Amino acid sequence: DLARHDPTRSAAFDPEKDSTAKERLSLMSALRHGIEHGEVTFAYQPKYDLRAGRVTAVEALVRWISPERGFIPPDDFIPMAEKTGDIRHLTRWGINEAAAQCAAWRKKGCMLTVSVNLSASDLMNPDLPAEALRAQKEYDLPTGALHFEVTESAIMQDMDRALEVLSGLFSMGFPMSIDDYGTGYSSLSYLKRLPVGELKIDKSFVLKLAQSEEDQILVRSTVDLAHNLGLKVTAEGVEDEASVDLLKRYGCDVIQGYHIARPMPADEALDFIMRSRVSAE
Ligand code: C2E
Ligand code: MG
Ligand code: MG
Ligand code: MG
Repeated sequence: DLARHDPTRSAAFDPEKDSTAKERLSLMSALRHGIEHGEVTFAYQPKYDLRAGRVTAVEALVRWISPERGFIPPDDFIPMAEKTGDIRHLTRWGINEAAAQCAAWRKKGCMLTVSVNLSASDLMNPDLPAEALRAQKEYDLPTGALHFEVTESAIMQDMDRALEVLSGLFSMGFPMSIDDYGTGYSSLSYLKRLPVGELKIDKSFVLKLAQSEEDQILVRSTVDLAHNLGLKVTAEGVEDEASVDLLKRYGCDVIQGYHIARPMPADEALDFIMRSRVSAE
């Protein structure tokens, strides 16, 4: 069952071979159908807070298992759903699903924050902040329980419109992170203008951290930069203990990656978090 949640396993669908216009349309209509019929779920990947010494948050990562096509990794349908506009259905579903799951965990005494990834076209949707607030109210969540991740490249597509949506979310109290930091423009002038509280350093800088002096320099200076701007830092793609040690030394706040935990179905994520809390105390 875990294999179905593991994006590194092979997929039945080959985007290179199959992405004719017709195939794209049929994939997108299959996605809409899949969202409505329970084929789409979230896997949750723990975020480990180094100072607190425990998991305080999880990131929701979409998993689509189509009866006809098998497991399709998000990188194979999200960019397409972006282009066709279908991403809005996915985001609406995702915000609601994450809010429901977050509330269910909280009722069991597990006070997690749940992060939802947003795409470029979500940042063009002026209704998004109100939709997020509605979900927060519907599930009776405290402010801060739902968190959003947006990439720099999504923001840069139309910075002015994106800023409106981000400011709306900010004014309603939703915490936000810049995802995949370092892969886009990484412009310092825009960083100052964004109402975000966290940078997530892209996994490409972290995966081989212990072996790459260059990555060490980049990661260490990004941690310092973020802290100087008053932002928290998460490192994603932490795959070994040597990287954990380095990230601790740099003063990184939060780590995420296969070394801590893979993305997991909700019930497994809860077990993991309950266990890790016990062993950390
Ligand atoms: P992301 O938000 O940057 O998520 C991190 C990706 O890295 C995830 O891939 C995760 O499974 C993977 N990962 C985590 N730890 C490690 C590690 O230690 N090593 C390696 N090699 N990989 C690791 P995934 O789940 O395939 O998602 C890919 C991307 O798809 C995400 O990147 C995000 O941009 C997008 N995505 C996923 N779910 C959603 C969603 O619900 N909505 C939107 N708009 N985008 C989503
Ligand atoms: Mg993310
Ligand atoms: Mg990322
Ligand atoms: Mg990514």
